[in-house]
Amino acid sequence: MPKYIVEPFRIKSVEPIKITTRKHREAILKDAHYNPFLVKSEDIFVDFLSDSGTAAMSQEQWAALQTGDEAYAGCRSFYELKKVVKELFGFENFIPTHQGRAAENILFSTIVKEGCAVPSNMHFDTTEANILRNKGEPLNLVADKAFDFNCKDSFKGDMDIKKLKKAIEEYGKERIPVIMLTITNNSGGGQPVSMENIKEVSKVAHAAKIPFFFDACRFAENAYFIKQREKGYSGKTVKEVVQEMFSYVDGFTMSAKKDGLVNIGGMLAVRDAKLFTEIKNLSIIIEGFPTYGGLAGRDLVAIAQGFKEVLDESYLAYRTGQIKYLGEKLNDLGIQTILPFGGHAVYINAKHFLDHIPNEKFPAQSLVNELYLEGGIRGVEIGNIMFGKKDKQGKDIWPKLDLVRLAFPRRVYTQSHLDYVADVFERIAKNKNKIKGYKIVYQAPSLRHFTIKLAPAGN
Ligand SMILES: *Cc1c(COP(=O)(O)O)cnc(C)c1O
Repeated sequence: MPKYIVEPFRIKSVEPIKITTRKHREAILKDAHYNPFLVKSEDIFVDFLSDSGTAAMSQEQWAALQTGDEAYAGCRSFYELKKVVKELFGFENFIPTHQGRAAENILFSTIVKEGCAVPSNMHFDTTEANILRNKGEPLNLVADKAFDFNCKDSFKGDMDIKKLKKAIEEYGKERIPVIMLTITNNSGGGQPVSMENIKEVSKVAHAAKIPFFFDACRFAENAYFIKQREKGYSGKTVKEVVQEMFSYVDGFTMSAKKDGLVNIGGMLAVRDAKLFTEIKNLSIIIEGFPTYGGLAGRDLVAIAQGFKEVLDESYLAYRTGQIKYLGEKLNDLGIQTILPFGGHAVYINAKHFLDHIPNEKFPAQSLVNELYLEGGIRGVEIGNIMFGKKDKQGKDIWPKLDLVRLAFPRRVYTQSHLDYVADVFERIAKNKNKIKGYKIVYQAPSLRHFTIKLAPAGN
């Protein structure tokens, strides 16, 4: 029996969720064209679609909202956030943005030109899209261990330093405006990056005089894994680990909807004064005056408070413990997952679990739909539908992995919700051979997974 870690909070405000019948869910899913993105949240029992913006705020955050200063310029709330940003990340210069992708838009619109390349361990999809929009080339240089299901390395988010050096040689440093590291690596299983790797990337970047930035959405989860897993860090506080991590970078983009523990918000921070002036000028046009960016004053204080709470080690032990608890229960049922468990989600190898469903009938999407039908649970496919392509001859090219991601909202579900989810998986596993695949009825030209329409494919 997997070890559980008790929730380090009690519940003061409740939001009802309802269990529906399988028959009801069958009708709902059919109406949604077998795409759970098109199902109303009301008809979901446990929602693991995303950990972004789905956190429960604390009593201190709700109280802080009341203190928000909504002055157009120079609001007190900005200076409260600035103090925390300075102390935790060591940055003087930052602008609040409405989300992470707005920070990416402002940064890349300022520094990426046609012919540029931006290396990272792995870009998140909005990061990649914002680089492409500015005619740059995103490079994913994560170490090969990231793709190895059997490898249990502690830091599968690490950048491959050899690949990075080769890219700098190939493109020339003038064509690389920034080197990035995504912590933790969301697109690669929520896997952390080691302090050793952060230091090495910093050394390579700075030797070539290229700025080094974090995509810092899950900075606290990454720091907690460094403390747990990397030699020399067990005696440090998570805050000290965060401070060291950020001492190696020249800037960062962040969606506060993850480790900021808020429902909306983000930021862009830079050390360089000239670059700061440029991003402030652009921010004024597309986000807002630099002391509020794309947010209300009250949002800024909620983030400041969230940054303090997310460092609490009993919270981080519970958070990462939840992922491991459910993940191990699934492993006990013979369900293969990405290992070791990362910071925010369980990633299931659907191609292995539903090996009777061929690629062209979408095994991971079939499991996503079965989870909804059997238990009202919403996960998300990260595989053949999200990344599948056709070559020039019209032949299908499938991604390496066809995964189902169960992303955990922060402080929202309890252990009994996880037990419920494990029970649903147990029932599905018993009858998995009866699960059938799907065929596409409609698809958009890009990012098709959001709006795709499917129909049961039969045998
Ligand atoms: C969520 C996320 C983003 C984008 O942030 P939004 O707030 O959704 O715009 C960028 N990078 C990573 C790694 C993320 O997880």
